[in-house]
Amino acid sequence: MQSSRVPLVLSLFFAVAAWAGDHPSTPENTAPAASTLPRQVTAAGSADSLAADQLLLRDHLTTLANPFFEGRYPGSRGGKLAADYIQWHFEHLGLQPAFKDADDPTKPTFRQPFPGPSHNEIAKQGFEYTANGKGITLAPGKDFNVLGLSGNGTVTAPLVFVGYGITLGEDGYSSFPDSGPSLEGKIAVILRFEPMNEDGTSKWSKDGWSFSAGLEPKIGAAIRRGAKGVIFVNAPGAKDDRIDKLETVNSITSREPYEAPVIMATIDSVDALVRAADPEGRSLLDFRKLVDEKGVVVDLPDASVTIDTEINKVRPLTDNVGAVLPGVGALADRYIVVGAHYDHLGHGQVGVRFPSDRGQIHPGADDNASGTSGMLLIARRIADQVAKLPPDAPRRSILFVGFSAEESGLNGSRYYTQHPIVPIENHDFMLNLDMIGRLGEKPLEAGGVGTAEGFADWLAPYFESSSLKIAAKQSGMGPSDHASFYAAKVPVLFLFTGMHPQYHRPTDIAALINWEGAAKVADMAYRIALDASLRPEPFVFTSPSNVTTTEGDQPPPPVRGRIRFGISPGDYSGEEKGILVGEVLPETPASKAGLKANDLIIKWNDNRVASVEEWMPYFNAAKPGDVVKVTLLREGKEMNFDVTLEARGGAR
Ligand SMILES: [Zn+2]
Repeated sequence: MQSSRVPLVLSLFFAVAAWAGDHPSTPENTAPAASTLPRQVTAAGSADSLAADQLLLRDHLTTLANPFFEGRYPGSRGGKLAADYIQWHFEHLGLQPAFKDADDPTKPTFRQPFPGPSHNEIAKQGFEYTANGKGITLAPGKDFNVLGLSGNGTVTAPLVFVGYGITLGEDGYSSFPDSGPSLEGKIAVILRFEPMNEDGTSKWSKDGWSFSAGLEPKIGAAIRRGAKGVIFVNAPGAKDDRIDKLETVNSITSREPYEAPVIMATIDSVDALVRAADPEGRSLLDFRKLVDEKGVVVDLPDASVTIDTEINKVRPLTDNVGAVLPGVGALADRYIVVGAHYDHLGHGQVGVRFPSDRGQIHPGADDNASGTSGMLLIARRIADQVAKLPPDAPRRSILFVGFSAEESGLNGSRYYTQHPIVPIENHDFMLNLDMIGRLGEKPLEAGGVGTAEGFADWLAPYFESSSLKIAAKQSGMGPSDHASFYAAKVPVLFLFTGMHPQYHRPTDIAALINWEGAAKVADMAYRIALDASLRPEPFVFTSPSNVTTTEGDQPPPPVRGRIRFGISPGDYSGEEKGILVGEVLPETPASKAGLKANDLIIKWNDNRVASVEEWMPYFNAAKPGDVVKVTLLREGKEMNFDVTLEARGGAR
């Protein structure tokens, strides 16, 4: 066998050297010098082969996007089934398990387990009260739920009604007038939404609710005023499709839990409680009408209420699923990665665009059953094709991998780059398929063409022979798994057919897929991956100019929080609460959406943002590619703008 394999000691030395300098130039990259052989460019698939590919894509995609997989949330039943599905196909393609079992490294496995996104699990929840000498115990899941931002603890206390819990609303409205009972040591009853008209619509906003209806500031306001617990309830009669909805421990969460127990209860159960606790026997609707006019705090002394909550944050394990097609000869220890994330939003636990979609299954047909199906199709076609190649033709090994937990912050791909099957320096190129199913008017985005020397030229024949309109982008950054590899100095190519209104909604379904488009994208990706595995020349990593990374850098934190919006806030201390736009930076999401200097941003996806501080949690929680609804005041007029966020320094 090949002498090129440098004895171990030397390879370690070179590995370190690689880490120190531009790694591709190390002798480690033992690919023979630029060959004199004519350039291998695999031809585009014929109409028949594309038609066959469409059928295979349809099989995979409609299966993975079937509600039976419940939106493939990491660590969930549906997520595990999707991993089983991918592994089954890898096995039936005769590919080798990519990983070693953590407990028994001699045992090969297709699975690389890692901690997925955290979610809340209820350890304990109780809600009961005594009034008029009678004890009432309410049923969890039916009459009430603990909310995900709740603190843990047990509190027994009298009630106090604080209306909408709004510190500062329109026209100086406040739920906490200077005079009136204190909240100290009591359990506060807070109404959802804001002062409304007889018909249940907002008095302060023409569509939906104004920024003042934000939930977290209400709970914060009550607890800051001494409340020892919070009962949150939908305001009876409100015109909102969530009126009968009981939020859950995972639908309403926060970065940090509050110090007091916080539950949400149904209108009926709170109405019965308030009637019993109020010496005048008023109903919850009576109280709503009271605070529709002006903010008041009312003691409800005739009941003693106990709330008991305990939540545990759990991070279930989830799996990257990987398989290898071993290489041959001098290139065998070099790796090409063909990857796609198979996870999605489940029942809308994370990443939903509209709160009202929470709780619904998000099939994720385009995001990313399409890319996963493309990856499986490419695995099949390459496995078939290499069987026809001369057995000793030098060829890189190919890792096919389904990543998990991409939606919660590229967790699977980042975990892989930190726990690779071979040193990350041996990874010559990563091809990422994320949302390839909705080819439309817009050209296919091909990101990362600037991440290897001469890459754009090398890719050109594939783009040209693909009969696809392609928008090539230099940067290797972006809102998907290739960014983890780019950060580890691996040349990348990201294929993406573009945003659409169904993105991150329950409506991202298989019926909307452009099968012919997806087959064309997958065919081009197949040809690029195959030829990349056979390419005699080394891949020399380069980082397009606008992104500098220094040696030994940890992969950047999850793309989440690294978005670019494109304004610099101005100095502002006006009456109206909000963020003054001081300057709009050119070529940014904000400028593309039409924001102007002197606009006053007051809402971010219907959440109040009265200051930059209040805006930051929402800003940092956003992900490149997200479309956010920004509400602002321009010359006093309220206007809405849909802004598509981009990765800082990224093209999209
Ligand atoms: Zn995706």
